[in-house]
Amino acid sequence: MACNGHSLNKMYQPIIAYSFVMGQRIYLSKQSYPMENQSRKLMAIVAHPDDESLGLGGTLAKYAAEGAEVSVLMATKGERGRFGTAAVSPGMEVVGKTRGQELLEAAKVLGIKQVRFLGYIDGDLDQAPAKQIIEEIALHIRDLQPAVVLSFGPEGAYGHPDHIAISQFTTAAILKAADAGFDPISSLPHTVLKLYNILWSKPIWDVYQAAFKELSTTVDGKKRLAFPYPEWMITTQLNTEQYWETAWAAIQCHQTQMAIYQNLDQLTPAQHKVLWGRQEFYRVFSLVNGGRKKERDLFEGITAAVLVPN
Ligand SMILES: [Zn+2]
Repeated sequence: MACNGHSLNKMYQPIIAYSFVMGQRIYLSKQSYPMENQSRKLMAIVAHPDDESLGLGGTLAKYAAEGAEVSVLMATKGERGRFGTAAVSPGMEVVGKTRGQELLEAAKVLGIKQVRFLGYIDGDLDQAPAKQIIEEIALHIRDLQPAVVLSFGPEGAYGHPDHIAISQFTTAAILKAADAGFDPISSLPHTVLKLYNILWSKPIWDVYQAAFKELSTTVDGKKRLAFPYPEWMITTQLNTEQYWETAWAAIQCHQTQMAIYQNLDQLTPAQHKVLWGRQEFYRVFSLVNGGRKKERDLFEGITAAVLVPN
């Protein structure tokens, strides 16, 4: 029997929560959440500390400020990234620990409720054992019960193999999380209602290019260049103008990376507003809506009715 909005307040869905330490599943607790909250749960699944702020800062800040439950699942701790202006890395452990801490600070600025790490190593993500990481992500999805998931697109922003890998693993994990045959004893299936890929159209890329000249990565000896998506591929455009300063503040929490981002500091407020005052997505799938009318809200089509099983 379908519930109405009133009885939803009294309905609780039991779940069993797990976390992971280096691939080992650790039992956390048995919890219950009000089912009505499911409609406002947003989960970003990305590769490196700073992806959440640079790529999604405006969006995450907006939804957190509006009362959504926002979580981030981070695949690595950016162990192979820069360490301030140091010419020589102090080692992956120190870099990872520092960058993990920077992410927690950025999350606080953005209003993110939960940050979890998968514990994979920066630069090696596309070599991760696929079955293992997909199941780990699926269990985090079951635990956090997002209605909406955000990740990179197939081009990984500028061809970064970690970004491409997390995009593929996330998509597979969403299927796994909903599969009743997976882990039937310890956790309950969860169906993500919408999946989005981060994308950038030309006006946003133009500003990034102004700051960085050329956004590229070299993989297997070949250069991969960033490219803007055509305007018609944007299914969803959010006005995050109120939150561009929050996004920029969160980016600056990633102090070890500021040597790279200092070019962003040279941009005008108008250019900053272009970068984080508007966020664009490609709706990979939605179980609740469709069509080519541009969405203005990630939760469009999600109502109490679609959350209640028959
Ligand atoms: Zn990244």
